[in-house]
Formats: sequence, structure tokens, C-alpha cells
Amino acid sequence: MQLVKAAQPRVWQPRWWNERLMAWLMGQPSLRLQAFRFIDALPSLSTRDAVAEHLGEYLGEVREPPWIARLIERVVVGGPRPFARGLAGLARWTAARMARRFIAGADFNGVLATTARLRRRGWACSLDFLGEVVVGDVEADQHRAMYEAAITSLAPSMASWPEQSRLDRDSRGPLPRLSLAIKLSSLSARFRAIDREGATRDVLSRLRPLLRQARRAEAQVYIDMENHAVKDLVLHIVRTVLEEPEFRDWEDVGVALQAYLCEADRDFETMLEWVRRRGTPIWVRLVKGAYWDFETITARANGWPVPVFSHKWESDAAFERLAERLMVHAEWLRPALGSHNLRSLAHGIACARTHGVADGDWEVQVLYGMADPLAAQLAAAGHRVRVYAPFGDWLPGMAYLVRRLLENTSNESFLRAGAAGGTTEEELLMTPGPGRDAFAVATTESDGGTKPVDAEDFRNEPLSDFSRDEPREQLQEAVSRLDGQLGQEWPVLVGGQPLSGSRLVSENPSDVSQVVGIVATATVADAGRAVLTASAALADWSRRPMSERVDCLRRAAGLMRSRRWELAAWAIFESGKPWAEADADVAETIDFCEYYATQAERMDTGQRFDVPGEVNWYGYRPRGVVSVISPWNFPLAIPAGMTVAALVTGNTVVFKPAEQSSVIAVQLVGILHDAGVPPEALQLVPGNGEELGPVLVGHPEVAMVAFTGSREVGLAINRQAAETVVGQRAVRRVIAEMGGKNAIIVDGNADLDVAVDGVVRSAFSYAGQKCSACSRVIVLESVHDVFVERLIDAAGSLVVGPARDPATSVGPVIDAGSLERIRSAIQQGRLSAREMLAVDAGELVQQGHFVGPHVFTDVLPSDPLAQEEFFGPLLAVLRVPDLDEAFRVANGTEYALTGGIFSRSPSSLERARSELNVGNLYLNREITGAMVGRHPFGGYRFSGIGSKAGGPDYLGQFVIPVHVAENTLRQGFAIE
Ligand code: NAD
Repeated sequence: MQLVKAAQPRVWQPRWWNERLMAWLMGQPSLRLQAFRFIDALPSLSTRDAVAEHLGEYLGEVREPPWIARLIERVVVGGPRPFARGLAGLARWTAARMARRFIAGADFNGVLATTARLRRRGWACSLDFLGEVVVGDVEADQHRAMYEAAITSLAPSMASWPEQSRLDRDSRGPLPRLSLAIKLSSLSARFRAIDREGATRDVLSRLRPLLRQARRAEAQVYIDMENHAVKDLVLHIVRTVLEEPEFRDWEDVGVALQAYLCEADRDFETMLEWVRRRGTPIWVRLVKGAYWDFETITARANGWPVPVFSHKWESDAAFERLAERLMVHAEWLRPALGSHNLRSLAHGIACARTHGVADGDWEVQVLYGMADPLAAQLAAAGHRVRVYAPFGDWLPGMAYLVRRLLENTSNESFLRAGAAGGTTEEELLMTPGPGRDAFAVATTESDGGTKPVDAEDFRNEPLSDFSRDEPREQLQEAVSRLDGQLGQEWPVLVGGQPLSGSRLVSENPSDVSQVVGIVATATVADAGRAVLTASAALADWSRRPMSERVDCLRRAAGLMRSRRWELAAWAIFESGKPWAEADADVAETIDFCEYYATQAERMDTGQRFDVPGEVNWYGYRPRGVVSVISPWNFPLAIPAGMTVAALVTGNTVVFKPAEQSSVIAVQLVGILHDAGVPPEALQLVPGNGEELGPVLVGHPEVAMVAFTGSREVGLAINRQAAETVVGQRAVRRVIAEMGGKNAIIVDGNADLDVAVDGVVRSAFSYAGQKCSACSRVIVLESVHDVFVERLIDAAGSLVVGPARDPATSVGPVIDAGSLERIRSAIQQGRLSAREMLAVDAGELVQQGHFVGPHVFTDVLPSDPLAQEEFFGPLLAVLRVPDLDEAFRVANGTEYALTGGIFSRSPSSLERARSELNVGNLYLNREITGAMVGRHPFGGYRFSGIGSKAGGPDYLGQFVIPVHVAENTLRQGFAIE
């Protein structure tokens, strides 16, 4: 400890000043946050003016401490322009300097110079390439080529270095001089845990030749562990390739093990067992883990168990436990301890001695630029120190830089705590244990669910985490089971009698030879009977206590949970939904039941405004019979939402599902009946919309229509509902969720890694058949070409396939009519715009309704491609000179449903908030995937009539507000 302290920088060294500055920054959370956000945006700012503008915008948001805020206001925001430009230059220069501190070199010459310098200090290196996130196959190939080039250019020069025995050999023989860390995510655009086999194949097609080359060049390869969602996939790929005969006896390969993961001990034991079976040892770089915030936030946002320990001491203790296990089994799992924590390392050294592991047979790893004094002391004490050194252009390396800066300023960092003082040596060196987070920040315990701020009793049903084996196996099993049961007839009763219409044969859009089920349909007479039955049931259902109706919804949610995999399988077969989409549909259905149950309970209390002698009650009554008419694209969630909202508020329902999703509708209604909704209160009338529409909308007993579907049908319903007929007793209420022509703007300073991914997900998931899907992307001139190039790579690498295959990203479109409309839009698009991407669906077209992703550029704002909803995997790219034009184009359609912007300028985001005409606006994220309660959903203009589904005002549409005033004064006294 003393030696390390003695080796800390001195006041006359620039690093001393750097560290003081960092320590000071650490104490200014608002300034620190804005400074880091600014640094993150820097790579995208090409001119000095742009840098100056962003600097002013980011720092302008600093509020604390007040004197800094005032200084910034006067000097940075309000100062003279040349001064601001000067400051911008200084900011860029400082960031570049910091980057050089943490990044070992921009090119191979730079790397060679740095590694040679480190070697002169007696330190070895492990090189990590910093790059953009891989979005497509072309980029994955580029990354592979870069790794190959690194081996070709570096290994021969390193081989000629004079030997340093501590670095170049251990008791097993020579050690490689070149050590390269590889991220498997950079070798595949299909690196998704849900598709384990596909991802493995794709990664291995690039990894195998690389490992071969590394082995020939006598280089070492470390496989990084990245984040928890891909950890098991990484381990699977590592095991698969290292068991192959060609690599089975190769020792110069290692993996990272992250001690902060609750599963780390289990992973260690599995790895040990496996490596013994393999018969050749591997290296294990034990670290605590660098993504604690990310893992915690992601898990909490998804309602998943947090995979990392919530207290710092637990990670420290796990590190020590695992370090000891490593030393015990050092002949199989060769230990590399990656830490800057003196206590952790001292413990490792003690374990190595206790278990007889020679100093040369294990190593310490530190991060480049972060722990030089520590590394120097350890090397002086005879340990092999390897510096984990990132290299690459500092601009794409910004994300890395920000992470390192955060780590360096975090008050959980051992080095910082040591250097900053305030923590005693004894505290720093204590055995990790409860209450001994000597320098930890308070961490929040997981609450295991996502909770909208305004709905105390509601939590979103977590989506399935398909990175885990169990959900994958469960859904696979449900799909296989249902596959054997398809083709059944599903009888439907109305008022106790079977429907008398023709039989509707529902096909699997992924494989039209497969009949999903056969459903009886309603005739106009059946529909009329259904309305009358529902009307007769109204008195009983509406007078039941609210608690009884609420219980029905909650029971339905429970039944859905217990049939979750089966319901998802139905959506896969009948609606062509890929796995994750099908799963989300079921979760949203459960959410609607739970959320509206909670909202209804609140509504039931009514409101009082009493004065002495008078009781005033404001409450609600149901409207009557509600016709629910739904689309096929959320075959469970949308009809369920409209239906249960109507039911819970005391209405009775006649429900007509879309023809294409009639079998799922039978399942849904069955569940609601099983949950206690009387059959008379909820009638199912499958059948043709045009035929049944007039009676469902125009019947005198129908008080309200809840519709979701196309604009054309929605407007027709609205017109028809406005007509009054003989026998009708009230003006009908219509709520209609309709289409959209949703746009995303990509600003000149957007993070393109995030923007490309967000646009691709928004445009092509569920083959572009979500009402929220992005069908226009409006890109600023300055980034247009590079964005389009990456977009094409990403969209062109999506896997088109049948919905039942977990590898599929883009499934079929719903039916032949839809396919035809999309094909003709493509033909038209070829005449008016530039077809930049046309993914051929190949043989699949023989089997189902498949069309691959299509991207058109140079689309004019007035072009049908930019105006009409096609509901398929078609994306129009529009080029604009500036943000003003971007907003004009975005708002230039008749719709206003969803929209978004990718930008790192606070002022652009602010403009989007106020200027974009959309019901649901998304900033710096995909524009689909709205969650009940969290993102109440719905549009205006020709996208919707009514209030948002899954929001606090929705139920109000299904009720009539009434007021009761009672005079309680009797002969001069008031009764209570
Ligand atoms: P659609 O309008 O063709 O059909 C919707 C429903 O209306 C079906 O049940 C259909 O049988 C019925 N219908 C058809 N003609 C009718 C008529 N004349 N009278 C009464 N009912 C009639 O829509 P779709 O193809 O099922 O769904 C896709 C459309 O739905 C897209 O436009 C999409 O944007 C929209 N949508 C909107 C939202 C939203 O929340 N805004 C959500 C999902 C889907």
C-alpha cells in the first residue's frame, strides 16, 4: 500500500493535476454528467461551430453548484462567439488528450510503439480493438479483417523482441507475445441469444479462420464476456469451437469471468468441468465487471432479476472466492486477475502462495492508463503484469473513454478512494463483508418489476428473457406441441346457439399449406342476435359490484400467465409473429387486464363534494353494448384491451375479431369466460367485417364502437355510427385507433450505432406490420450517406424466415392481399425512387407470404412511399438539408401516430418535443414496443379518435359520468 501510494503522481506531474481535476469533477454530479454527455457527442461534431454549440447546450444544463452555472452562463453560453469557438477547440483538444491516456494507439504502428514502451517497463499487453457496434455482415467482415490485419502486422515484429523471461514463458513453456481480446459481437450481426445455433454458426464462420491464424502466428486470444444477455451464448460458442479437433489442444486462449455476476461461481464450476473434459487448460481473466449500471438498469427496466450483486462488497467477496478457486485449479484454469484493487490482488497473491502457484504461472491484468503505480510495484515484486490496452481511432472509442472516465471518477473505485483520502487504509484493506462497503455508493435493491410512477398497484408483466435457456425451451416445446394440434374446428355459440355462417379456414402465413384452425362465422342475423343477447345481459353485468368484474380481469390475467407459452405459440402460427413479438403480445394482454383492473378500482370510488346538508357524488355508468372490432396484428393484446376495458366498466361486448386471427380470438374469449365473464356478457362473432360491420355499428342497441384497424374502415365506421336509426336511444360513441405513416429523424449529431439499430428494429420487426412501425426515415444531409450505408448493411443482414424459427427477424406478412399490395408499392417505388435494398425471400415465397426488407432512398416527401401506409417491410429514406426541413417533412402527412428522433443535441430534442405531430414520441430509441401504463398509446389527426390505450384516460371513454346531489336536511337536522 505504501509503495503504491509512494508511486502516485506528484504535484509537478500533469497526471497529478489530471487526477485532482477528476476528483473535483467527481464531486460535481451535474457538471460531470453534462461533461460526459458532451464527450460522448464529440465524435459526431465535425465543425468547430458545432462543438461550440453543443458545449454551450450541454453545459447550459448544469445547475449545481450555482457559481459554476453562473460562470457557464456568462462565459460559455453568453460569451462572445470567437471565445466560444476557442473553448470548443480547447474541449476537443482536452478530450483527445484524455483519449490518448486511455487508448494505446490509433493504428498498428502506434500500438507497436506503445506495447514496446510498456514492455520496456516490464509489462506485457493484451490488445482490445475499439470500434463501432457491428450492425451488418459487411461490418462483421470488416472487423474480422481488422483482427487478421492486427495479427499479420503485429506478430512478426513482436517475435523479434528480445526475450524477457517473466513475460515470455511460464512453467508450461513459451507464452505468446501478441495477445488479442476479441468481442464475439463484433464478428456477427446475428449475435442474438434467442437464436443460439444461428448465432453460433455465424460467429464461427469468422472466428474459426481467425483462431487458426492466431494459432499459426503463436498469438494468444482472449474472448471478452461483454454483457449478461450474451454471456451464455459466448460461453457456448467458446466451448463449441475449443472442442473441435483443430483447437482442442490449444492452450493460448482465454475467457473473461465477471465476478459481479450472481452466476459467476456456477459458471466457474461448469467451466472447470468442461475444461477437464477438453483436456487442455485455458486462461481465465477474472474481473469484477464493467457494466454494473447497464446490467442493473436493463434488468430493472425489463422486470427481470438483476444479474449482478447489488452490493459492492459482494462482488469483492466473489472475486476473492473465485481467485482462490482459480489458484486451486490453476493447472486447468490459468489465473489472470484483472483488478486495480490492492486488497483483491493481495488476496490473490496470498492464495497463489498458499496453493503453491508459482509467480510465473499466473498474472495480474490492469487497464491501460489507469493503474501505472500499482502495475509498477507488482512488476517490481516479480509478478507478470499484462496491460489490457484498447486501440483504434479515438472517435469511435469515445464510448470506451466515457466508461473509463466514469470508472475513474466513480466513488466505488479503489484507486480513487485511496488517492482521494477520507478512507483509511484499514477500511480499504478490510475483508469484504456486509456493511463493509468502505467506499461504495448506495445501491438500490432490485424491485424485480417495472412500475409506472402514477400507478402504484400496477407492474408490467416482464417480457421473456430469451437469453436464458428455460424460456427458449418452454416456447420451443409449446410450438412443437401446438404444431401437432393445429387444424381443429372451433365451434362458437351466440346466445347458446351455434353460428350459422360459413366456416373460416385460418392459414399459417409462414406456411400456407398448414391450417391453423377452422372457425364458424356469424351471419348478419347471428350478429343481430349477439347484440340483443348482450343487451339483455347488461342489467345483470352492470349491477355487479366493481370488485367482481375486477376479479374477472385479474383471474383472466392469471389464466393467461399459466398459458403464456401456448398463447405465444398461437400468435406464431396464426399471425406469423416471430418469437419475441409473440411473447410481447401475450405480456401486453396480461398488462391490459391488470392495468384496467387497477384503473377501474380507482374509478369506482367516484368523487364527493359534500357541503353541510347536501351530499354530492360524481361517478360513472356503463354506456351499454359495445361492439369491439379488432385488427389481426396484435391478435391478443388489442382485442383484449378494448374488450376488458368495456367489460370492467360494466358494459357488455360483442367482439368481432379480424378474419386472419379468428382462432386466437376463440382462445381469448374462452379465457375471459373461464375467468368468470358470463357468456351473455361477451359474445364472439367471427366473420367478414364488411358484411357484419353494418349491424355491429348500426344496430340500435349498440351504444359504442371500439375499433382498431385501418383509417379507411375507421372513418367508414365513424360515419355510419353517426347515423341514428329508429329505436336508438343515444348518440353512439366511437373510438378508433387507426393507421400511421411514422417517421424517425436522424440528426447530424446522432449516435449512428444507436440510430441504425433503432430504425431497423422500428421498420422491420414483425415485417413492418405494427401500427407504430417506422416507414419513413428522414436523414440530415451531413450523415445521410454513411447512415444509409450502415442501414443497408443492417437491414440486408436480417434473417427472413418462418415465424416459428427463433432465428427469424423478419417473418411473413399476413396474407396474400397484403403481399400483393406491398409488391405493387415496390413496383411503383422503383419508378419514383431509388431501390437501395431488396432482400430476396428466395424459396420462402413458395411456402408463405414472404417479402424481404426493402429500402428506397431519394424518396420525395409527396411520393406515395412517403405518404401511404403499406404495412410491410418497406422503408423510405428522405434526405433533408436541415432540421427545419426534417420537421416539416415529418409532419407532412395526414397521420400523427408515432415518431422519433435520434439526436445528441438537447435543443433538437426539445424542438422534437414541441414540434413533432405525433401521439407517441420517442427520443433516441426505437418507436415501437409501447408498454401499457408506461407508454399510453394512440394518435390523432387521421391516426385516431379517442384517448390513449393503456393510459389513465382510456376507461373514461367507456362510461357516462353522472352526478347525484342529495339534500340530507330533514326538518332542520341533517342525516348522515
Ligand atoms: P382493417 O381495417 O382492414 O380491419 C380491422 C377490423 O375491421 C377487422 O376486424 C375487419 O374485419 C373489420 N372491418 C373491415 N371492414 C369493416 C367494415 N366495413 N365495417 C366494420 N368492420 C370492418 O385493418 P387490419 O388490416 O386488420 O389492421 C391493420 C390496420 O390497423 C393498419 O392500418 C394499422 O395501422 C391499424 N392499426 C392501428 C393501431 C393503432 O393503435 N392505431 C393498432 C393496430 C393496427
